[in-house]
This record gives sequence, structure tokens and C-alpha cells, in this order.
Amino acid sequence: MPNESKQITRIDLQPEEIIRSVKMRFRICNYLFNTGACWMAASGVLGILIILEGHHAEPDALSLLLTLIMIGTAIYTLAFALTLAIYRCPVCDKYLSRFRPDKLHCPGCDAKVK
Ligand SMILES: [Zn+2]
Repeated sequence: MPNESKQITRIDLQPEEIIRSVKMRFRICNYLFNTGACWMAASGVLGILIILEGHHAEPDALSLLLTLIMIGTAIYTLAFALTLAIYRCPVCDKYLSRFRPDKLHCPGCDAKVK
């Protein structure tokens, strides 16, 4: 499958293929952001528990909290970099910002992406 798509020139993509491709790219980025959010939520819960425990909190809990925050941040950073790399228009390779005014079309070549 990946070999097949490389043989087609990007401009020759069918409208359904563009939409499918953008949807898949969006899904990958979104899942990664959600995974990062899960780790952040876990560190939030642990942080609250540590605050409730006050100075009785285990020192191990603090290092675990730091680890969770670091994992969450790492995944977020990765998600951001991956989004910049792959969340692009399949036709003209322009970056499709989440905050672009027209979500249905590519800002670069006006191809229908949604
Ligand atoms: Zn485009």
C-alpha cells in the first residue's frame, strides 16, 4: 500500500483519497495528543493525592509524579513535532493548521480536505 501511493503523483489524487489521507493523518496526531493528555491527567490525579497527603507524602510519590509529567510532556512534544511533519495537504504539502479559518479546504491549493 505505501509503495502504491508513492508511485502516484500527488496532484493526481482523487478527492476521496485526499479526504481519507487527511483524516488518517489527523487521527494519528489526535491519538498521540490524547495519549499525552492521559499521562497529564494521571499526573494531575497523583499531584492532588500528594497535596492531600501534605508532608506525609512518600518521597517516591514525588519522583513518580515527576516521571509522569515528563512522560506527558515528552508525548506532547512528540505529538506536536509529528503534527508539523505529517498533518499536511496531500496535494501541495502545505501544513494544515488546526486553527485555519476554512477547515474544509487546504489554504494552499484549495483542495477539499474534509
Ligand atoms: Zn493543498
